[in-house]
Amino acid sequence: MEGHHALASVRAVRRFLTELANTADDGLAVNNFHKQYGRVIPGPIWMIEHREVLTPAGVVYRSIPGDRRILEFRDAVRRAWELRDGRAKLYALIPLLAPFAHGPGSSKSDIERALWYLLDHPHATRVCRNPTCPTHYFVVARRNQRYCCEECAKPTPREAKRRWWREVGRDWRHQRRSGNTHRVRR
Ligand SMILES: [Zn+2]
Repeated sequence: MEGHHALASVRAVRRFLTELANTADDGLAVNNFHKQYGRVIPGPIWMIEHREVLTPAGVVYRSIPGDRRILEFRDAVRRAWELRDGRAKLYALIPLLAPFAHGPGSSKSDIERALWYLLDHPHATRVCRNPTCPTHYFVVARRNQRYCCEECAKPTPREAKRRWWREVGRDWRHQRRSGNTHRVRR
């Protein structure tokens, strides 16, 4: 019965989660996400919500547009994304899962499966260490991965220069001073 799932494979689940977490703070990005994954996150989350807000003057209703609501959902997923502790992750995800919960015996919906993926793989979701990375949130392919891709793992010219000085430059300077003509030892 996998056929009518929009997220039919683990790969699709990972792609969905990555797209959600990396969705930018603008209407166009939310629109694109909606076009691709609107049916994965079902229900009123895409519509305006009139939320009760307590102010000094009493309770007022504030309308929260759909794109704002999906970004709040994204932010909550981002928080859970970075948690390493399984229990902390569980507590962060329960409020997100609750509105989509189905009764016992029914199979998990796409959104349930995606959120459960986060619970079941607490170490798989990472944040790319490259500060200029446009898509910070990624799912690891191997255990010690710190960057989302090869491109992000390349040192910047400044970092490469600094690294050269740290590893080679100091010895080189020292040897010039001491008149040592031997090869640089590391
Ligand atoms: Zn990156």
